[in-house]
Amino acid sequence: MIELAARVSNSFRKTWSTTPDVVSIAPGRVNLIGEHTDYTGGFVLPAAIDRHIVVAAKRTNGSKVTGYSVDFDNIANCPVGEYDPEHPVEWFHYVAGVLSELERTGHFVPGFCFSVGGDIPIGAGLSSSAALEMAVLTALEGLLGIRMDDREAALLCQRAENDFVGMNCGIMDQLISRMGQRDHALLIDCTSLSVEPVDANLPGYSWLVIDSGKRRGLVDSEYNQRRSECEQALAVARTLFPNREIRNLRDVSSDALPALRQVCDDKVYRRLRHVITENERVLKTVDALRRRDAETVGRLLYQSHESLRDDFEVSCKELDSTVETLSQTPGVSGARLTGAGFGGAVVALARTNTIPVIAKAIKETGAQVFSIKIDDGVRLLEVHR
Ligand code: ADP
Ligand code: MG
Repeated sequence: MIELAARVSNSFRKTWSTTPDVVSIAPGRVNLIGEHTDYTGGFVLPAAIDRHIVVAAKRTNGSKVTGYSVDFDNIANCPVGEYDPEHPVEWFHYVAGVLSELERTGHFVPGFCFSVGGDIPIGAGLSSSAALEMAVLTALEGLLGIRMDDREAALLCQRAENDFVGMNCGIMDQLISRMGQRDHALLIDCTSLSVEPVDANLPGYSWLVIDSGKRRGLVDSEYNQRRSECEQALAVARTLFPNREIRNLRDVSSDALPALRQVCDDKVYRRLRHVITENERVLKTVDALRRRDAETVGRLLYQSHESLRDDFEVSCKELDSTVETLSQTPGVSGARLTGAGFGGAVVALARTNTIPVIAKAIKETGAQVFSIKIDDGVRLLEVHR
């Protein structure tokens, strides 16, 4: 962590021949369970991880925003107030989106220069994009000497990604990057945005992230299709139960499934069954973590994967075979795809003393194991001049 911050700060000094005023560091995340439940107002259980995006920034006298990407080795800029969603440099869209939303909410955006770098694998389901947005926003708060409310900050970054970048994500990634707590997952209620820390470190066990190596393709259209199928399911549930108050799918419980099966199209029914049972699995996982019951947590992870594979249909052969390999490796309690699916990563809970054996088994499949630590949310670092 500190090494990454030092690397980006040093790069800043070299590129801009001056020292930064602020350095922000925002984590990526792994979602332990609760997949495709955020945008239907349900429960999710993500944890911030010790992989980050760092932004080092300094105010300038001009009215230009200019940034250097350490990882892409290119510079992008725009005049303050002129944010172009078609900007030729793709990573700059996330920056411009946050600045544009800051201005829309009445904040002043000064001219500034910055450097950005990170160590979150891109497109692996660990949410490098939300970390980038949150690192940019927090650096700006530092430059302006303000501190926004955490939920407002997360919602601002979500709007940047939804409305400016055009990715219709839920609120989970931005909220955990902002509010994560060391050693804890956060149970997020995506209707009320209330969060509850849950100790996720089970003695003798570790959380692992396995990057399948498969990058997501076609994810936007598939993702938007799942969202629309969930909306169809909601409409059916409201028609079937006109006397129940159904704000979103989270208000439909599994006792309604048999009746819904009679009236739903098969595909829409399976989407619905995933969302309803997944919300229940999140709450059961929280309960099992509190009881320190690793075997139950593991079983729920496998069930989640099966539901995502068969009912929600967002898995792929690489993710399935990674989970399959893990299920045959001693010491693994459970595993599931994490993130939107169609590629990316698997999260697993395993006995710590079996990690070398697991790493060997996984290496043979071409995937890569990361042992992760659960970290805090975004913060500003002290700048030493
Ligand atoms: P993820 O699942 O990792 O969030 P996305 O496709 O949503 O994948 O976001 C990835 C995008 O975020 C990249 O294409 C890039 O524009 C930006 N990004 C991620 N990491 C960095 C980085 N280290 N430096 C600059 N931009 C980054
Ligand atoms: Mg993303």
